Amino acid sequence: MSITIVVSPSATGKTSQCIHRLKQVLADNPLAPVWIVLPDRLQAVAFRRRLAAVGGAIGVHIGTFGDLYHSILFRADQPIPVASDTVIYRLIKTSIRDVAAQGKLVHYTPIADKPGFISAIRDRFAELKRARVLPEDLIETAKKHDTSLAELGLLYADYQAKLQAMGWADPEGVNWLAVEELERDPAVASEIRLLIVDGFDSFNGSQFAALRLLSERIPELIITLPGTLGMERTAHRRFARSLEMIKTELPDAAEEEVSGPMHLPGPLANLERGIFEPAPTPTEGQPGISFVETCSPVDEAREALRWVKARIIRDGLRLDECALVTPDPERYRQHLREAGEEFGVPLRFTHGEALTSAPGIAALLDLLELPSQGWPRRLTIEALRAPYFDLTQFNLDTQKADLLELVSQFGQVVGGLGQWRESLERLALMEQPPPTEEGGDLPAPMLPHGEAAASLWENLKAFSDRLALPDTGPTRTWVEWLEDLLDELYFFERQETDRDEASAIGLRGALRALVLGEEVSGEAPMEYEAFLKELRSTLEGTNFQERLEWSHPAVLVLRVLEARGLRFKAVVVLGLSEGLFPEVEREDPFLSEELRAELGLEPRLQREQGGLFYQAVTRSDRFLLLTRPTMAEDGERWEPSPFWTSARLLFTDEPVVVRPDAPRALADAASAEEVLFLAVRKGGLPRSYTDLTQRFEGLRLARDVLEARLGDDGTSPFEGDLSDVEEALREYFGPDHIWSPSRLETYGTCPHWFYAAHVLQLEPREPPEFGYNPRQLGSILHAILEKAYMRAEDPGDVDSVLAALEVVAPEEFQAAPERFGFRPSPLWDVEQEHLLEKLTETVTGIVELEDGWTPVAFERVFGLEGVPPLVMEIDGQKVQLHGVIDRVDKNESGELRILDYKSGSSHLGPQDLVEGRRLQLPIYALGAREALEMGEPVEGLYWAILAGRRGWLTLSRFSYEEGEETYKGPDAAFRMATRHVRRILEGVRAGVFPPIPPRGGCPSYCPAAAWCWRYDPAFW
Ligand code: SF4
Repeated sequence: MSITIVVSPSATGKTSQCIHRLKQVLADNPLAPVWIVLPDRLQAVAFRRRLAAVGGAIGVHIGTFGDLYHSILFRADQPIPVASDTVIYRLIKTSIRDVAAQGKLVHYTPIADKPGFISAIRDRFAELKRARVLPEDLIETAKKHDTSLAELGLLYADYQAKLQAMGWADPEGVNWLAVEELERDPAVASEIRLLIVDGFDSFNGSQFAALRLLSERIPELIITLPGTLGMERTAHRRFARSLEMIKTELPDAAEEEVSGPMHLPGPLANLERGIFEPAPTPTEGQPGISFVETCSPVDEAREALRWVKARIIRDGLRLDECALVTPDPERYRQHLREAGEEFGVPLRFTHGEALTSAPGIAALLDLLELPSQGWPRRLTIEALRAPYFDLTQFNLDTQKADLLELVSQFGQVVGGLGQWRESLERLALMEQPPPTEEGGDLPAPMLPHGEAAASLWENLKAFSDRLALPDTGPTRTWVEWLEDLLDELYFFERQETDRDEASAIGLRGALRALVLGEEVSGEAPMEYEAFLKELRSTLEGTNFQERLEWSHPAVLVLRVLEARGLRFKAVVVLGLSEGLFPEVEREDPFLSEELRAELGLEPRLQREQGGLFYQAVTRSDRFLLLTRPTMAEDGERWEPSPFWTSARLLFTDEPVVVRPDAPRALADAASAEEVLFLAVRKGGLPRSYTDLTQRFEGLRLARDVLEARLGDDGTSPFEGDLSDVEEALREYFGPDHIWSPSRLETYGTCPHWFYAAHVLQLEPREPPEFGYNPRQLGSILHAILEKAYMRAEDPGDVDSVLAALEVVAPEEFQAAPERFGFRPSPLWDVEQEHLLEKLTETVTGIVELEDGWTPVAFERVFGLEGVPPLVMEIDGQKVQLHGVIDRVDKNESGELRILDYKSGSSHLGPQDLVEGRRLQLPIYALGAREALEMGEPVEGLYWAILAGRRGWLTLSRFSYEEGEETYKGPDAAFRMATRHVRRILEGVRAGVFPPIPPRGGCPSYCPAAAWCWRYDPAFW
């Protein structure tokens, strides 16, 4: 028996020496069984390639410890099925449930059903097994510790019992069984002539046990380790510990240091030699090594892939000769994926992601929520739009989804199949779609009505019937129900991308695991919600991996630990900022450091991550890029990692700092999008990119527009200038157009708001919610006041009006939801009391304003319902206006007072008239005088109902100065209003629609708010 520990720094030929020895053995005995054990499949593939490059070798087994263990069990005629991750997850979940049902889970009960807890428990079980800690050992140890450890022991024992009852093993259990077999039978695996263990920097308990047992029966064992025999360097501390442990476990092992030269180029060799060394001497120039700082991980991912693409194109590397090493795969996955797709660099991630992050699975879970959540508006519409379901059998598709969206706005559908039915049945009774609210000159676009609405309800109902749930049942029944549904919706056929397909395969596995879990723990009928919770939790805890054939070249994206033992020509190490790499070490909340030491588990603190960094930066034979983000997600500055700082000390060149808005050479563009972006910035597209000319021109125009709009003076032609269509505007808004004061006010408030709302005729789309919106509230309050005054025996007597109000208000409140189209909130009763209080204050408050006024008219219209409009003569042109006056009072002289109720209280001051935002009062006064011929208005005011006071603008007190003149009273208000009407008409007809944020900010219900470049949010 010969045991050799081969130690040498990275890239000095350990693996070459192993291959050399292997060849020697095979030269002596070509059929000698030889095993090469490597940390994982990636290293196994790489070793196979290296061996092939030097002529290959027949009959050499290259694999992981897992492969070796399987082989041992197979030779011992004890093959055992290995449970997949999903099955393990499911079994642990079942164990948690069963132990909890026995009343033995107390400490962990609050988090027991969280996917994170199950994953954490699964990791701990794996660690315990790797260290060969039996469940009974853990339970025994727990007696000296707290109850949480005892509970962990019970879960571990239950899980293990379930696995054994199935006759299965988990991957770590295979290790265990193989070691047991080696202990039981000294002859097993004794035919192995040479065993080489390469690429490791640490070993766990079962690996040590297997190596010890094998070394006793095979002629030769070689173990390689990075470092030096003395292991004096800081960079080698991690390996020093491993070397000590090997020497303890295998005391007969001889140590040997490879004396071959380092094959790294100068700067990389300098880095290897100098990293973490005290007082290093920096070298000038660092060809092959780059340091890049970016603002964020997003930019970092882009810069990393730009650099990789440059190595491929400029330096002729193959995709599989490049690798990205990341300390935090989840932080970088999406950014790398997006940049890879844009730059045309295929990536192969070595780590999976949760099934629930796949869009198809997320859509399926949303679909399954529909029946239990009562067909909420958003989920219903999204289910119809999702590309993963074929709903043609229900006559539903994306167009029907659009229609349902309109229906939901019309019927204020918040959720519940009943609300969908009620809204569609209301529409089915209509021969015409209802008009839009403002002006009513256009029907609501495409809103289904009549037969179309009836059949839309039939379609939706058929779909909901299909999703009707069986009674309670065991998991098997629910899974069968779900599988039938998936088949009917062609779910699996509709998975198009590799990612979709991989996640769909993962889903099938998860469904099988659910059934298997039930078989192990026994059938237990459950409700649909419980099944859905189980399904969601299983999918959250199950990873899937995009399939990318190894024959398809791609750049590897590795975790730091996976980089060990691999060699590339170009490597990027990302995330070299504080807290990312090295990651912050925290004590394990399940197994303390003390316990870990007692049980023989790897420590969680002082893991010597510097050794991992050393391994990562010595993986490349030619090019190395180190990157770090400088800004954390919360905007705080991210300090450099100590690894970054140590590496920087070795070189004098400053790192490249990449800012997103900094100029960049066109030659550095990594995608067509970047070429276009940079070309537009530089002002020209080189001839070699003629195929991008059209896109370039479009983008250049967009840039000009944006630049002009972002300018401060607001005078560019892109600032709402529609003079090109002046002719059409003059015709549409010509003398025949009948204006409402509110439209004029909209232009007076912001011309672009008018353009969006009344030229483009857009309406803000806000998701329906319970309760009334401000417009509906205004309508309710107006309607109640009108009816209360109309029904009062004496509208001039406050008590009479209040008595009528007591009768009218409840009737109106009851009819309001149906009449004004809103769904009462749970607070509707309380709201009614509050509103009645405010209405009472309105009735009494208006009386208290001034004596001598008696109401004579309510909701008087002009320019509508056959009543002539108000006609203003402006510059020789007639302007027609319509309106509805809330209330007209008269005094004993027959003079008029105009009242306009407002539910809000802002923008009711004289300045609002001076600036053209409030024109209603003078226009209504003119309407009363001229269109309705009711008399001479001498007063007019706004009454803010909810605020319980009048607005500051009144016609009698209004005044303004112009030159030397001061204008006062209603005539001044009429004059001012006329001036604004002239200005507004000129602006509208000339196509002048600049966005001018109103003082106090833009209202959220401005339909342009979503795109307007001058949007200034405010509370209105
Ligand atoms: S968002 Fe503001 S500035 Fe833009 S159109 Fe609307 S009101 Fe005007």
